[in-house]
Amino acid sequence: MNPKYRKTVIAGNWKMNMLNSQVKPFAEELKGIVNKPKWCDVVVCVPYIMAPAAMKAFKDCRVEVGVQNLNENEKGAFTGEVSASMLADLGVKYVIIGHSERRQYYGETDISVNKKVHAAINAGLTPIVCVGESLEQRELGVTLELIDYQVKTALAGVPAEKMRKVIIAYEPIWAIGTGKTATAEQANEVCAEIRAVIRKLYGARIARAVTIQYGGSMNDGNAAELLAQPDIDGGLIGGASLVATKFAGIINAANKE
Ligand code: PEP
Repeated sequence: MNPKYRKTVIAGNWKMNMLNSQVKPFAEELKGIVNKPKWCDVVVCVPYIMAPAAMKAFKDCRVEVGVQNLNENEKGAFTGEVSASMLADLGVKYVIIGHSERRQYYGETDISVNKKVHAAINAGLTPIVCVGESLEQRELGVTLELIDYQVKTALAGVPAEKMRKVIIAYEPIWAIGTGKTATAEQANEVCAEIRAVIRKLYGARIARAVTIQYGGSMNDGNAAELLAQPDIDGGLIGGASLVATKFAGIINAANKE
């Protein structure tokens, strides 16, 4: 983390878990145990239909609400889809884009990720753009090249003044939901590479200010070590964000002076 230059952001990804009726009890429990987050922003990315309940439940504390996807088109005949402006109109602030589960199960590509990034920033949402390699790619030694490509493609056409709004999440696919965490050094190496790519594209000042998260089995036990790395500015958290005590442990680790 480097709170002098950039925001630390702890974001939960509830995926297709939790029920609408569980949102309020979760929020009440979290509010009871989390120290007032001073150094970090906290986000909970919920299924679309829970966004109104989550905004209501978290409205009196510093937790913002995000969702886990959007459609890249502005409006039109796209049955079952949700646009960026619908989310912004509702009061949603963040959206996860290009999560590996969406790439794997719903055919999302680096090109569609780029379109979704544009849709999000045009509507004033903060995209949390996920990039990451598979185990095979890591073992082939192509992780950094792949990450360069994913970041460059995701950000193609994004103007410098909008970069303030963009968060990148490095999520090695082999560490998501598996209990296997990248070592702090492995995670920092890739986050530093992402910052180097942004530096080449946008210059040092913007690169220094962009929040780059790590995601992949982060929990209350390993968060402090990961967040102590200079280029890891927060976490995108799946499993541990479903348990208020564990999520609070991560927030409190990010909130240490
Ligand atoms: C995720 O879904 O983005 C994630 C990192 O999940 P987990 O923390 O469960 O590995």
